[in-house]
Amino acid sequence: MGSKILEGFSTITRSSQEVTSDILVMNFTIVTACLVGGPNNRTAGWALVDTGLENSADFILEAVEERFGKSSRPQAIILTHGHFDHIGSVLELSKLWNVPVYAHRLELPYITGKKDYPVPDPTVDKGLVAKMSPAFPHKRIDIGSRAVALPDDGSVPGMPGWRWIHTPGHTEGHISLFREKDRVLIAGDALSTVEQESLVSVATQKERIRGPPKYFTIDWNAAKSSVKQLRDLRPLLLIPGHGQSVRGEELTENLEKLVNYFNQIAKPDQGRFVEK
Ligand SMILES: [Zn+2]
Ligand SMILES: [Zn+2]
Repeated sequence: MGSKILEGFSTITRSSQEVTSDILVMNFTIVTACLVGGPNNRTAGWALVDTGLENSADFILEAVEERFGKSSRPQAIILTHGHFDHIGSVLELSKLWNVPVYAHRLELPYITGKKDYPVPDPTVDKGLVAKMSPAFPHKRIDIGSRAVALPDDGSVPGMPGWRWIHTPGHTEGHISLFREKDRVLIAGDALSTVEQESLVSVATQKERIRGPPKYFTIDWNAAKSSVKQLRDLRPLLLIPGHGQSVRGEELTENLEKLVNYFNQIAKPDQGRFVEK
């Protein structure tokens, strides 16, 4: 699954940022992953949301040790979806920790060796990342029986107070995670705050809410409905899979703008998955 292009990306920067007292966002240059759970309440347990790139495991393990202590392990790994930049270290970490990996049941075929994603569409944008996207891994992985469907009642194992929301469009079984108490939204690739298709924007990480990364998105009508659904939650803090976290008024205003101008802001003018 390793690609030279991606190795280049993932060595540029790795950083982490505490966005609430119990959420640490780890940034692997092009993608984020989160440790969710309070370091001051270790007995309550914690979860890992998404797993970064193929070579992100070491950084994640260091962050875990620093935050929760040596040989601490999560109650669960939660995947927003199965794209390579979110599942990169899932095989290694789920094996090491011997923990279940939860995803939407429609996403399970991609992580249990049954189905491949379509090849990314490079024609959606003129940006360099879009042009490189056919080289991105899109083939199935197989984590076997560790892969489990998320509970039907909307609860999230290892994350009390959170619920998962089906937000299809980018992939068929894509989910977002929401906590009512402080209105925190972990949006995976349903939303992003960086123009992922262009390398310049990835590098400068300009803050502005956008739709899902274009080259991988397969259903734009569903993607639009999902964005509306997330707007209706009135989140106060957005943690996207790509880009910086955004809060408060900046979030509310830009999310509203994205809903109202979805076709202009988010949807590519052309592409294999764009209806004419
Ligand atoms: Zn994705
Ligand atoms: Zn992604």
